[in-house]
Parts: sequence; C-alpha cells; structure tokens
Amino acid sequence: MADTTDLKELTREQLAAWLEQKGMRPFRAAQILKWVYIRQADSFSQMTDLRKDVRELLSLEFSIDRLKREGLEVSKDGSQKFLFGLKDGRTIESVLIPERGHYTLCVSTQVGCAQNCRFCLTATGGFERNLSRGEIIAQVRDCLTLAPPDRPLRNIVFMGMGEPLANYRNLVEALSVITDHDCGLKFAHRRVTVSTAGLVPRMADLGRDTKVNLAVSLNATDDATRSRLMPINNTYPLAALLEACRSFPLPSGRKITFEYILLKGINDTLTDARRLGRLLAPIRSKINLIPFNPTAGSPFEATDEAQLLAFQEILLQRHYTVVIRRSKGQDISAACGQLKARHCETRAAAGS
Ligand code: SAH
Repeated sequence: MADTTDLKELTREQLAAWLEQKGMRPFRAAQILKWVYIRQADSFSQMTDLRKDVRELLSLEFSIDRLKREGLEVSKDGSQKFLFGLKDGRTIESVLIPERGHYTLCVSTQVGCAQNCRFCLTATGGFERNLSRGEIIAQVRDCLTLAPPDRPLRNIVFMGMGEPLANYRNLVEALSVITDHDCGLKFAHRRVTVSTAGLVPRMADLGRDTKVNLAVSLNATDDATRSRLMPINNTYPLAALLEACRSFPLPSGRKITFEYILLKGINDTLTDARRLGRLLAPIRSKINLIPFNPTAGSPFEATDEAQLLAFQEILLQRHYTVVIRRSKGQDISAACGQLKARHCETRAAAGS
C-alpha cells in the first residue's frame, strides 16, 4: 500500500495513458473515474464492470484515499469544522456550513499560508506546502456524502487555509474535476468561488482557464492601510488589483465578490465606506462585510454594530448588494486557522 499513488492525483488523460500502456482501452478511464467521484468507491474491487485482472493491476499501483479525520467541532449553528490529516502527517481544515436548503463547503488549498495577512490566524503558522490536486479534490469528495439528501452540498468556496492562486496548477486541475459533469463531482461553475488576497497575474489566468466565481479579499480602501494589513499589497497595489478586476472576464449576470473585514479604527470609517463605493463603481461587484473574528493575541478589534450598519448603509445607498457575513461557528474556533492552532496547542500541551 505504501507506494501506491492516490488515483485522484491523476488527470483523466494521465489515467487513460496508463491504461493504454498496460494494453487496456483508454475509455476505461472515464468508467473508473465515475466509480471514484460519482459512486464514491473506496476500492477497485467495487468496480464490478471492470475485468478482475484490470482491477488487480490498478490496485497494485493505485489507491483511492480518504482524508484522515483528526478533529471535528460542531457549532450550535450547525457548522462542522473538520481537521483533516494528510499522508505526511500535516493537517488542514475544511468547514461545512449550513445555509438555507443546502450546505457550503469551505476548502483549503495550502498547508499554512505565505501571505502573512495581519488579521489571519493561518498566517501565524507560516507556509508549509501546497496541497496536491488530489488533496484539494478529497476535501470535496469526502464531504459530499456528509450532507443529508434534503440539504445537499451545493456550494464550494476556496476560503480555507492558503492562497488558492499561489497553488495555481493544482487549483485549476482540482476545479476541473469538481466541475466535471461527465465523470467528476458535478458542481456548476457558478456554485464554486475562488477567493484571493490579490495575486494579480494569476487572476487573469483564472478568468481564462475556468468559469468559476472570483472573490477578492479587499479589506482596505487605500494602499497604506492595505499594505499594513496585507503585505501582498506591496507587490500588487490597489490600482493593479482593481484593474485586474475590471478586466476579469465575467460571465453574463455574474459579479465579483469583494470581501471586507471590518477592523475597529483601522478600515471602518465612513470615509472608507464612501471610498469603497467609488473604487468599486467601475466593476460589477457585490460586497461582503465581514465582522472581524477576534483571535487570541490579535491587536485588532471588531467594529461596533452601529458603525458596521452605518458602513453598510452608505454602500446600500450607492446601490451595491452588501451582505454582512456574520461568521458562523463563533463557538467552535471559527476563524480561519483556529481549529488547527488549537489542535497544535493541545498536542504541545500533551507533549506530543
Ligand atoms: N487567501 C485567500 C483565501 C483564504 S482567507 C484570500 O485571502 O481570500 C478567506 C477569508 O477569510 C478572507 O476574506 C479573509 O480576509 C477572511 N479572514 C481571515 N481571518 C479572519 C478573521 N480573523 N476574521 C474574519 N475573517 C477572516
């Protein structure tokens, strides 16, 4: 088992080429992938429409892995936060969030993160490594069966640990499986959202390579504040970021989502609200205002409710769609990176 490759690491073309090399018909690839993604098979022995010798050959070389569940916290509001163990012993988080009539899954793309955003807990652990395409797909595949039939998993947001666009190739390969209606996980493109801290050159690539939704973590309306909160702004300042948004090829009827964490006294003045309205005017956009989720040791505080509403009101007057994204699962270390951080603390305390 130790030296088998997780089948999810292979593209359909790679699997077809492998089959051909072994003297099998390449169309078997689609048949096998349907077993993996649609019928959720855990072993090749389940694939009863394949010849036994083919199944044996496959199982000598490949496995169909699931993530190891190392932690689960369930919030009063129904959010389930999973800590998943990877083959190399590292861990990532995925969060299953209940919405009206369906679930949304928040997935990770890296172990840790290199962006170093000052308000984000994931940043404190530093960057460890990119997730493979199979590890990204696995979060969705494993969580798909956890949602009940009357409340299916319908939306995927790449807002977990890591900067998705900094792991571009694996992200795009995973997206193609997630949105493959023939032998993949069958999510509609408009049900999938990739969130970026603003890796400008990759935004154009994403618009060219996929038709999923784009979200941008904006979080400030001037370069000095944004650079202070998000070091990536030193490389790709606001003008470049907003230009990349303006030229992003949006399918008709779609908008770019701008996320804006409100930090008391830092980026939450009414001047900021007006400036935000001006900055986004040339872009088809909607705005998510995110009350800051305080983390231990953080120098920031959440904006008061009255200020939050006043900030929203200014944008509503300018006819923006503005949603206050009350973070779910406040009681279960909800902010990005918190479950992992807590798990590590517990481990450290236990001396392991
Ligand atoms: N790197 C990507 C995706 C991961 S962050 C990005 O930056 O978009 C996903 C979202 O969580 C971002 O909008 C980020 O601003 C937000 N976030 C991070 N820490 C937070 C906290 N403590 N409270 C509220 N939102 C937070």
